[in-house]
Amino acid sequence: MSTKIPTRLYLSEDEIPRYWYNVRADMKEKPDPILHPGTLKPVTAADLEAVFCKEPVRQELDEDTRLVPIPEGIQEFYRAYRPAPLIRAYFLEKALGTPAEIYYKFEGTNTSGSHKLNSAGAQAYYAKEEGLTSLTTETGAGQWGTAMAMAAAFYGLDLTVFMVKISSIQKPYRKALMETYGARLIPSPSDTTESGRKMLEQDPGTNGSLGCAISEAIEKAVGAKKCRYVLGSVLNHVLLHQSVIGQEAKAALDKYGVRPDIIIGCAGGGSNLGGLIAPFIGEKIAGKSQTRFIAVEPASCPSFTRGRYAYDFGDTAKTTPLLRMYTLGNGFIPSANHAGGLRYHGMNSVLSKLYRDGFLEARSEAQTDVFDAAVRFMKVEGILPAPESAHAIKAAMDEAVECKKTGEKKVILFGLTGTGYFDLSAYTAYNDKTLSDQIPSDADLERGFATIPDIPQNR
Ligand SMILES: *Cc1c(COP(=O)(O)O)cnc(C)c1O
Repeated sequence: MSTKIPTRLYLSEDEIPRYWYNVRADMKEKPDPILHPGTLKPVTAADLEAVFCKEPVRQELDEDTRLVPIPEGIQEFYRAYRPAPLIRAYFLEKALGTPAEIYYKFEGTNTSGSHKLNSAGAQAYYAKEEGLTSLTTETGAGQWGTAMAMAAAFYGLDLTVFMVKISSIQKPYRKALMETYGARLIPSPSDTTESGRKMLEQDPGTNGSLGCAISEAIEKAVGAKKCRYVLGSVLNHVLLHQSVIGQEAKAALDKYGVRPDIIIGCAGGGSNLGGLIAPFIGEKIAGKSQTRFIAVEPASCPSFTRGRYAYDFGDTAKTTPLLRMYTLGNGFIPSANHAGGLRYHGMNSVLSKLYRDGFLEARSEAQTDVFDAAVRFMKVEGILPAPESAHAIKAAMDEAVECKKTGEKKVILFGLTGTGYFDLSAYTAYNDKTLSDQIPSDADLERGFATIPDIPQNR
């Protein structure tokens, strides 16, 4: 290519995707169905509609529609902060002395600071369309709660967020931001639900957990009128909404004739990775591309690289349907010292299937290496990355350094999912050298695996 590629590969507003891309439609072997935990039969839309909004449920179960039209009311929301920038990392390439070309898709330019807004907007829109008046959800680190607070404010819905108690104390500014957008924040466990009260009775001094916050939010939604529960990752409809990331990245690269050899994303529940790779992995499944796809997870919560492929609950309280996925067991809790996010025990079932079938690679990284990479990156590229995103940065840098050894001029694309402004206590720990790498032992993992349900499908 003789045209010089600019540092920012701009798209215009007209080029924001009008369809979401459903990768399941192109998979020859589909992921295993979601099971009802009582009957162990595939869940029906009616089962899920007791908890979730109708259209997201339809999307959750739809394996066949390849391109799902994005309603105008959601496109409008996307126009407020999209297209997200696609940036050529010229400075990072130079700092590494690599012949590789590195690009990153930056999803942190909106106020919530991450890609999560792409699904929050869609889910709030559908709730409004369905005639609901309120939503409930949970948040751990706070990114999803903030994204939902923004979306609920935009569409005029009430939102109750159960925030894991310890993070509501550790992240007062996240809490302030959600409340300023009008959300009602309840530190979890709380005395406002049965499951919260039970948890408090068992352990009055508890810090709370994501699993408990999920149970409280679901209980609240099921017990209220015109109210449903929304989730920010793991499920297929969330991955579908996040496909705007990959489609925009592909459209911008196509303009310059650039084809990625390697695509890298961090993996918590899998939504940003699934969204980034969606349009590219479709071509790979069809046998039309040799692109490699790499999921990067924390060594302290290694679902893909050390987990089991089994049916498991999505939450610690064992209330959700069963998903077949790579899991460390619903009872697995990563070390409290882990500051890098991506703490979820399981993984989206589509990505789990793609990994199982060899279309996707995975690796895990220790958090001190991840923060080293974040700091090297921000010094040259200028952007303060979320610790989650820094997992992808680490792997991208490693691949670029590998190219230096072999002299190959590979094209690397990674997802920079968010900014780290609310993670400065983690950066402070890094600067103070109090971050350590606590990698679970095999015995720790066995304790988690023991919480995976012993059902015939898992034997
Ligand atoms: C939530 C989050 C992630 C991880 O979630 P996925 O569903 O795996 O994408 C990654 N980066 C940021 C900035 C996040 O907020």
